[in-house]
Amino acid sequence: MSEIERHAYDVVVIGAGGAGLRAAIEAREQGKRVAIVCKSLFGKAHTVMAEGGIAAAMGNVNSRDNWQVHFRDTMRGGKFLNNWRMAELHAREAPDRVWELETYGALFDRTKDGRISQRNFGGHEYPRLAHVGDRTGLELIRSLQQQIVSLQQQDFRDSGDYEARIRVFAECTVTELLKDDGAIAGAFGYWRETGRFVLFEAPAVVLATGGIGKSFKVTSNSWEYTGDGHALALRAGASLINMEFVQFHPTGMVWPPSVKGILVTESVRGDGGVLRNSEGRRFMFDYIPEVFKDKYADNEAEADRWYTDPDSNRRPPELLPRDEVARAINSEVKAGRGSPHGGVFLDVSTRLPAEEIRRRLPSMHHQFKELADVDITAEPMEVGPTCHYVMGGVEVEPDTAQSRVPGLFAAGEVAGGMHGSNRLGGNSLSDLLVFGRRAGLGAASYVDGLSARPSISQSDVDSAAQWAQAPFNAADGGEVENPYTVHTELQQSMNDLVGIIRKGPEIEQALEKLEQLKTRARNASVEGHRQFNPGWHLAIDLRNMILVSECVAKAALLRTESRGGHTRDDYPGMDPLWRKQLLRCEVDGDGVGVTSLPQPEMRSDLLDLFEREELQKYYTDAELAAHRELP
Ligand code: FAD
Repeated sequence: MSEIERHAYDVVVIGAGGAGLRAAIEAREQGKRVAIVCKSLFGKAHTVMAEGGIAAAMGNVNSRDNWQVHFRDTMRGGKFLNNWRMAELHAREAPDRVWELETYGALFDRTKDGRISQRNFGGHEYPRLAHVGDRTGLELIRSLQQQIVSLQQQDFRDSGDYEARIRVFAECTVTELLKDDGAIAGAFGYWRETGRFVLFEAPAVVLATGGIGKSFKVTSNSWEYTGDGHALALRAGASLINMEFVQFHPTGMVWPPSVKGILVTESVRGDGGVLRNSEGRRFMFDYIPEVFKDKYADNEAEADRWYTDPDSNRRPPELLPRDEVARAINSEVKAGRGSPHGGVFLDVSTRLPAEEIRRRLPSMHHQFKELADVDITAEPMEVGPTCHYVMGGVEVEPDTAQSRVPGLFAAGEVAGGMHGSNRLGGNSLSDLLVFGRRAGLGAASYVDGLSARPSISQSDVDSAAQWAQAPFNAADGGEVENPYTVHTELQQSMNDLVGIIRKGPEIEQALEKLEQLKTRARNASVEGHRQFNPGWHLAIDLRNMILVSECVAKAALLRTESRGGHTRDDYPGMDPLWRKQLLRCEVDGDGVGVTSLPQPEMRSDLLDLFEREELQKYYTDAELAAHRELP
């Protein structure tokens, strides 16, 4: 085999979305030499697509907001399955991370008195999302990149080399993590353009690879979201938790077919948009669950008053957490009250003046005009659920973001725990800033604590290279498979059998299908050579998508209740006993094993932030009796 390109760093960050960039900035500021590796172009991560905003309890629009309220909302949204320590750190630190972005050059929309403006979003008690129109992710990425460039300029002044301490390896896919004596030693990958292999030697790796949406047919996610980081972590010996919880965003485009799944931001509802069925009824009033009854308006007049007088009225039910709204839309369509193309109507045209819609929702206006020939200032949109976000991910230590594997850290969507069974909108951008920084800090201090650098064995490099080349040799074994066909069947099965509403027998069917697909993916064959060869890239990604799908399906089968982003038709209620259990996935042979572990008990002062009546909806009487006096 020809000589492999090698690079040595202190910290390798895999992923250049918000989590990766924030981690890289922190590790570099701690004096470490950092590589940022990303499989797409630099600047084109998922984060750039984020529209609505960053949730942070700054209290700029309603001074009653504070970290405790944000913490409460996050735990409620996740139906108390969140890692409470992560939710606490997140709520406490998010405002600092947003203000810090402005020191990097971000400029958020302003209130009339010049403060960072904050908008309403589902599940957030007060207006909390700092935003830049509906293009917040673009500003977030732009300012993090600007900070990286300014650090590189500083390095140039110090050493004459812009890349002395931060270098970006764009369009470079990592396929394997390498270890030395159980600890991280580096990462192996290939340049997408040339197909040449590349080896990163590093004692610490931060995974910031985002989600898994490309395993599902209808999704808001782009081609990058093939669960690589989840699978890399599993294969390296780390564990994943909460994988049964997949968020289906209630509002994706449903028409035309070529754009099905593309996101329609929650800001449309946050800014006054309402959902209607084919009979013109605002149906969300029919779907307010018992646990939220006291917080949401049960009539249109009160719901509408809330936009101007939130202190004396309850919130409109269109702003329930996403899992509730997605299920409601699904039920309306199933009951035959859907829109012509199988969704429901989302109307902002009768709620705001046209000029205001164009000002507040410029991307949505453009998106519908260009892609569906719909003018949202004059007519309603058609929308339906779309696979959007995975709550499950790498099990990490909350304060440092370290996984079970020494030297392996994870932050952003690839990490699990923070959002419990369901993420609130806006809580991902704040999550990736808070825990991206913590992962960078954690990785730097881990490296500081090492007495010697790990080394990578040649045989590990050879087997990583051999595996990556396997799709070119699959034809030698006889039967061959087209990776695109296998991918299409995987997406269809996950969508139909482990999608928004699940049933035991269907999940079992999905698991049988996944076994077949696993075998077929081993025979996925491609022609030609390694120079830009998308079929080869997909054949490599397939292994990750199937492994991660197996985690989702196996955990979904075990969890015999419905909670957040996991709805079992055969177990429709929430079961307090399941609130005490997490499901952990680990590699077992060439598949995945799932075991249960206890959910850590919430610290007493945090539990005290909730009223007893609310806790009774989630906790058993015995648990509450054991807790000291509650207000
Ligand atoms: P990403 O930003 O996705 O970055 C992942 C990076 O990993 C990319 O650079 C990718 O190239 C790289 N990568 C992946 N695999 C590999 C590999 N094998 N080798 C090398 N590199 C790899 N959240 C909010 O809080 N507010 C919002 O308003 C909001 N709006 C959204 C709108 C849309 C359309 C979508 C899809 C999501 C939205 N979200 C929002 C969710 C949020 O954007 C994502 O959860 C978040 O950006 C994930 O950030 P990340 O840093 O974890 O990963």
